[in-house]
Amino acid sequence: MKPYDFPDATGHFGPYGGVFVAETLMHALDELRVAYSACWQDPAFVQAYRYELKHFVGRPSPVYHASRWSEKLGGAQIWFKREDLNHTGAHKINNCIGQALLARQMGKPRVIAETGAGQHGVATATVAARYGMECVVYMGSEDIRRQASNVYRMKLLGATVVPVESGSRTLKDALNEAMRDWVANIENTFYIIGTVAGPHPYPQMVRDFQAIIGQECITQMPEVVGRQPDVVVASVGGGSNAMGIFHPYIGFDDVQLVGVEAAGEGMDSGRHAASLAAGQVGVLHGNRTYVMQNEDGQVQETHSVSAGLDYPGVGPEHAWLMDSKRATYVGITDEEALAAFHDCCRTEGIIPALESAHAIAHAVKIAPTMSKDKVILVNLSGRGDKDMHTVAERAGIVL
Ligand SMILES: *Cc1c(COP(=O)(O)O)cnc(C)c1O
Repeated sequence: MKPYDFPDATGHFGPYGGVFVAETLMHALDELRVAYSACWQDPAFVQAYRYELKHFVGRPSPVYHASRWSEKLGGAQIWFKREDLNHTGAHKINNCIGQALLARQMGKPRVIAETGAGQHGVATATVAARYGMECVVYMGSEDIRRQASNVYRMKLLGATVVPVESGSRTLKDALNEAMRDWVANIENTFYIIGTVAGPHPYPQMVRDFQAIIGQECITQMPEVVGRQPDVVVASVGGGSNAMGIFHPYIGFDDVQLVGVEAAGEGMDSGRHAASLAAGQVGVLHGNRTYVMQNEDGQVQETHSVSAGLDYPGVGPEHAWLMDSKRATYVGITDEEALAAFHDCCRTEGIIPALESAHAIAHAVKIAPTMSKDKVILVNLSGRGDKDMHTVAERAGIVL
């Protein structure tokens, strides 16, 4: 194994990452960095985190052989890491539990979050209820209109959902509002970020809380196939489910890592969310990374059929893994993801999240080009219940 020790002490992954925030937040981030690095050294913290993953989330999640589909395709064997079976239906809960426990340790009784599709808001509201914390979620008013059932879920869980009316009234505007709240309420408030983005130490912290996914695979795959997979595939929005499964595999040189971005209506259409493939290096959400921006540096609206991949940036560690060629990144269109979604339902009896369907679509594309003894491991990041309306609408059906 080659040594891999990123980020460096200043929170950089090569030229990416770092801390780009208002002066008033520097102290809070320092405090967070210290508390975070202490937490993994504290056996009581690690034990509490593991306990929650087992008893509240239902971990370990199994790996599953998509045998009928692999047979049909006639090439490599496709396996799924079943994050869809977690409590709340996706990988996001792993990270929210870690950050909520950290907030509790730091004596912060109030947590805030921002959300686009509402999935991170629901996961945050869930852990806030679990640990008896006050919870405020910022959400663009346009997103609130589009994601009514997630808004209702958050309210059921006791969270306050604050509509953001500025800008395009979507995720990027909610990001700004959450940052503003944090500056104003730093004494009692912990900002739970939902993906491997944000200023240092967030990208590292979220990755480490999600790394449980890959760590389990490293034990599970030899048990079921006698060795590690040849290729690991995951969808990339901000990049947390992908970093979670990739990171423990980085030192395994023979394991290819492939991230799948949302190519939306096609890379030439301009309507996509492929920050790595088509973005420029800039600053978003407190770190330097690839960002979908126009010539003036204004953040652009992104598009994907899957709301969770619709993030205009990408975690800085992915930018570094791409530049250093340790991972490769490809695009899957809305149409390809929807086709994989329907095939997965009928062939395997699993309704995947549309985000995960992007990763599955890529696996299905490459499997026939590989021999039958090869193994592709796909991170099935979430279940598709939340996507029923979107899929039905595409088929002209009103639910
Ligand atoms: C939010 C979400 C994603 C995308 O976020 P990442 O940080 O890139 O993982 C992918 N899959 C599901 C099911 C999600 O809810």
